[in-house]
Amino acid sequence: MNTNSFSPIHVVGGGLAGSEAAWQIASAGIPVILHEMRGVRGTDAHKTDGLAELVCSNSFRSDDATSNAVGVIHAEMRLAGSLIMASADRNQVPAGGALAVDRDGFSEAVTEAIEKHPLITIVREEIQGLPPREWDLAIIATGPLTSPALAAAIQSETGEDQLAFFDAIAPIVHRDSIDMDICWYQSRYDKIGPGGTGKDYINCPMDEAQYNAFVDALIAADTVGFKEWEGTPYFDGCLPIEVMAERGRETLRHGPMKPMGLTNAHNPTVKPYAVVQLRQDNALGTLYNMVGFQTKLKYGAQVDVFRLIPGLQNAEFARLGGLHRNTYIHSPVLLDRTLTLKSRPGLRFAGQITGCEGYVESAAIGLLAGRFAAAERKGEPLVAPPVTTAFGSLLGHITGGHLVSEDEPGRRSFQPMNINFGLFPELEPGSIVRPEGVKRFRGKDKTAVKRQLLSARALRDCTSWLGRE
Ligand SMILES: Cc1cc2nc3c(=O)[nH]c(=O)nc-3n(C[C@H](O)[C@H](O)[C@H](O)COP(=O)(O)OP(=O)(O)OC[C@H]3O[C@@H](n4cnc5c(N)ncnc54)[C@H](O)[C@@H]3O)c2cc1C
Repeated sequence: MNTNSFSPIHVVGGGLAGSEAAWQIASAGIPVILHEMRGVRGTDAHKTDGLAELVCSNSFRSDDATSNAVGVIHAEMRLAGSLIMASADRNQVPAGGALAVDRDGFSEAVTEAIEKHPLITIVREEIQGLPPREWDLAIIATGPLTSPALAAAIQSETGEDQLAFFDAIAPIVHRDSIDMDICWYQSRYDKIGPGGTGKDYINCPMDEAQYNAFVDALIAADTVGFKEWEGTPYFDGCLPIEVMAERGRETLRHGPMKPMGLTNAHNPTVKPYAVVQLRQDNALGTLYNMVGFQTKLKYGAQVDVFRLIPGLQNAEFARLGGLHRNTYIHSPVLLDRTLTLKSRPGLRFAGQITGCEGYVESAAIGLLAGRFAAAERKGEPLVAPPVTTAFGSLLGHITGGHLVSEDEPGRRSFQPMNINFGLFPELEPGSIVRPEGVKRFRGKDKTAVKRQLLSARALRDCTSWLGRE
């Protein structure tokens, strides 16, 4: 029997995010009621009733905390006592530098830990509306396949255009990997627009031969099919780039790759035959998205084909493109820095439904939502993780770091994001020092040192945040 003096916090959804949130709340000594519908109602992707089921791959990606952003967020989660990471570590299978798990063992470990925790009660039921007001503190962590009744309730609270049912992801490139000896900054017709400068896009020029070779490569590349239950969510404003290419050789040149209103700063007298435009994606200015390049190409094919674009021959991708069934809210507008719905104090969102992407990221946002809710219940200050940490970078992106562009307003320009170093603030000037004896220190060598420094800074700042939270 619970003799605890705190009233419970309700968590809806026992996936990666909800399980982690429940664990963090209970670890803070506060009772939790975890509502999970599987057992009474399934989803199109889950196959079991286990908590934290991995619906597809069994990989948590790189475990390198010295120079990989995913590895860094793993390490931060371990520091914060993550159940998801502890269960993954205990069920690891060999996968080189990646952390891969035995999916059944992993889900069973999470389920057992939650079931045995004296402060957590699991209720197998579908929550069909917004949490009632009497659950004063609640977290919705119902994921990309949130049940239709709850999705409709969220939509009626937030507004119809604030909840998306599919993502339409264009690749995002690290700005410092774009070759500016080939590309140039310019907005079409030098339009300044609201909040612009006339130089808001990075432009990659193509001549006729390069364009034709690019279209051929796009059409020939391998794509990922839709799952039967996803349907085919194409609508004309949002076609995958390869589908547009198949509609006719000139389609792209009259669509997202049109060269009108652009003059190549490196070669002003020669009109480009086609132009790929990239637009600033985050407030830090470190990431640029490829405008209109949503795609179903396989990841490997995307890298090969998009590196054919002049200026992107060495492009490093922070995120590759995709189109999936995916329920997510327009978090930068709807949520505050502690993941609370601005229109409903006490109600938080966590996991993939907030617009992060991936098992690890979903669990990390669940971890933060759980800690924020627990602090609120205890009347303690809610201290967000520093922006220099992987936690803080991801949280910052979801709750405000993303730029909403004026010419593509609304939820469509906010698309799900994995953790990556492009979300981290730059190092202090002068931090990257050339190692002794090294003459040429740039390109990949310099990037490697930068990543090590960003990783070390994140872990140091996370440790101190956890100490003073
Ligand atoms: C088909 C598919 C494949 C994916 N593959 C990968 C991959 O390979 N690698 C990767 O990193 N990420 C992948 N993702 C993305 C994402 O990381 C996972 O979906 C991840 O599980 C998200 O975690 P979550 O906790 O937000 O949601 P989930 O893990 O889906 O958890 C949400 C939970 O809420 C429950 N629920 C939903 N509605 C209700 C309701 N109304 N009442 C009560 N309970 C409810 C669901 O049953 C579920 O258990 C994939 C997503 C999909 C849809």
